[in-house]
Amino acid sequence: MKTVMSIAGSDCIGGAGIQADIKTCCAFKVYATTAITAVVAENTRGVFGIEAVKASFVYDQIKAITDDVWPDAVKIGMLGNADIAREVARAIRDFKLTNVVLDPVLVASVGDSLSGDKEDTVKVILSELAPLATLITPNMPEMAELLGMPLDYEDPQTFPLRLMGMTRCSGVLLKGGHGNGQESVDYLIWHDAEGKLESREFSAPRVETPNSHGTGCTLSTAIACGLAQGLALPAAVEKAKAFVTEALKGGRDLKLGKGSGPLDFFVNA
Ligand code: PLP
Repeated sequence: MKTVMSIAGSDCIGGAGIQADIKTCCAFKVYATTAITAVVAENTRGVFGIEAVKASFVYDQIKAITDDVWPDAVKIGMLGNADIAREVARAIRDFKLTNVVLDPVLVASVGDSLSGDKEDTVKVILSELAPLATLITPNMPEMAELLGMPLDYEDPQTFPLRLMGMTRCSGVLLKGGHGNGQESVDYLIWHDAEGKLESREFSAPRVETPNSHGTGCTLSTAIACGLAQGLALPAAVEKAKAFVTEALKGGRDLKLGKGSGPLDFFVNA
């Protein structure tokens, strides 16, 4: 059985973070292991409190997992603070983990911060984590944070290149979910097996839904599942986007929570 290790925060309402990652892995029939960075008191309406795990203990969890059940791919989500980000980077290096999908989660869609020291965390993401990542999956607001500039005046395809140049990561997927066109377009750039730079667009009709809590977590984990199962990066992204689109459609009429509810994790991957 293939395995994905999720390094992320716990979302007690079950739609995002570690819980979304486990449910996504189940949909892909991949075994999930989890290193928890922070426990978040939150629901579909907001974030009410964050308890970050001691940074060295995040490392200890990753060590315990990798010593025993080797991860075929890794998803990194909410880090919580810069110290944890540093320890995660140390673990990725020490244990030589590959197929690393980094979702640079900094702020929840409801607008609440998921990082105790956002600017420092961004610095560690850029300098230590991104260079180890197979793929970074920012949405437009996250891309603006990472590049340290507003993004509303240029062709979006140029931003992934800029991030790749800054960090030397091997791939960037800029997600278009925060746009407002009829289509949700994601831009992927990556280095192929020969080191050649490739690019591809992924388009899907935008799903109008009140329920989108955890969409980014689900997508990044779905990509990690595809990589764990041996798909090449563009194929893993294509399959993951199709899964998220179906999960968004399936979740349109779910009545779970009074705010932005979860996706439907029971659709076919
Ligand atoms: N809570 C946790 C623990 C998360 O990891 C994330 C996203 O990555 C969120 C909340 C944010 O979820 P969303 O912005 O999709 O509602």
